[in-house]
Amino acid sequence: MKALVYHGPGQKAWEEVPDPTIVEPTDAIVRVDTTTICGTDLHILKGDVPAVTPGRILGHEGVGTIVEVGSAVGTLAVGDRVIVSCVSSCGSCSYCHQQLPSHCLNAEGAAGVGWIFGHLIDGTQAEFVRVPFAENSLHKLPDGVSDEAAVMLSDILPTGFEIGVRNGRVKPGDVVAVIGAGPVGLAVIMTAGLYGAARVIAIDLDDNRLELAKAFGATDSVNSRAGEWAEQVLAMTDGLGVDVAIEAVGVPATFDMATELIRPGGTVANVGVHGRSVELKLQDLWIKDVAITTGLVSATTTPMLLRLVAQGKLEPERFVSHTFAMEDFMDAYDTFGRAAETKAMKVIIKR
Ligand code: NAD
Ligand code: ZN
Repeated sequence: MKALVYHGPGQKAWEEVPDPTIVEPTDAIVRVDTTTICGTDLHILKGDVPAVTPGRILGHEGVGTIVEVGSAVGTLAVGDRVIVSCVSSCGSCSYCHQQLPSHCLNAEGAAGVGWIFGHLIDGTQAEFVRVPFAENSLHKLPDGVSDEAAVMLSDILPTGFEIGVRNGRVKPGDVVAVIGAGPVGLAVIMTAGLYGAARVIAIDLDDNRLELAKAFGATDSVNSRAGEWAEQVLAMTDGLGVDVAIEAVGVPATFDMATELIRPGGTVANVGVHGRSVELKLQDLWIKDVAITTGLVSATTTPMLLRLVAQGKLEPERFVSHTFAMEDFMDAYDTFGRAAETKAMKVIIKR
């Protein structure tokens, strides 16, 4: 088969590799019909994720069709259309029992790291992928849900909802600031309404993304390139700040922004992946009764989100900005890697 293979920092190729085979009786082999590229894949290609070693097939998002199941797989069958979850779950360890498979203790590659596709084992940017613990790590797709919508449920929609909206404890009537309007920030914006946010303020440096944020449900947008972003946001509240501030970028400056915008009693939910240490201004925050949350997506809300998608209550196919054929995978990376110029949001790659 062909796959997108990482060959060390800055190097990748769409090339011929051996087909995956069943290794454990709990595995399934999925033919990948639709996949996409995540910002995390760009981090890997920069060499920021040293656990990814040369020769690894990238990708942790995908929708496909089961072509083979191991002898212990009972609830799935050849021919089923499925979403591949970005997090694999053994279903039986203490973390999986706590609904935190992001820390699954039986994960292949490293105990305690549920994100293994395109990281510790071969991923979904390929014609076929081996899925460990298939019964817990694949979700059957109902008829009527497109691949384009479903592939957003592998990672970005559950990430925005679980680590942003749910960790942020959004309640009816809340004013929510979302810093960063990339795919993850837009996923927060798309799902903030599920818990009744009254006002959702998108903050970004890119006007194109702010415009999209409005189309995804933000009530207000602020370009933070101009200096007065804090004044602008405070003017949209009673002057005390927002109830929930969600960081969806992953740099020190934006975490700082979140802690500046939060009102006493509010919650800062960090979603961004940080590569450097970030200063925590505890001298200002301790007196404010502020909660700060962190997290790695577990994707345990994918079935719930899928029900909303099947009923047309969420339309994640709206993330798609570009579509490519698998043989043009390198062009898909090029377009996604130059998002500011190409206005790429999620690029879809189809067999
Ligand atoms: P992205 O790079 O596409 O989007 C980031 C957005 O932030 C862009 O629109 C950019 O213009 C904006 N931005 C950058 N610097 C800014 C600044 N100083 N002020 C305001 N806006 C700024 O990224 P994404 O794919 O949307 O992912 C967002 C973050 O979430 C990344 O750090 C990613 O690694 C992380 N992530 C976390 C999890 C998790 O489980 N916690 C899962 C997936 C992704
Ligand atoms: Zn587990």
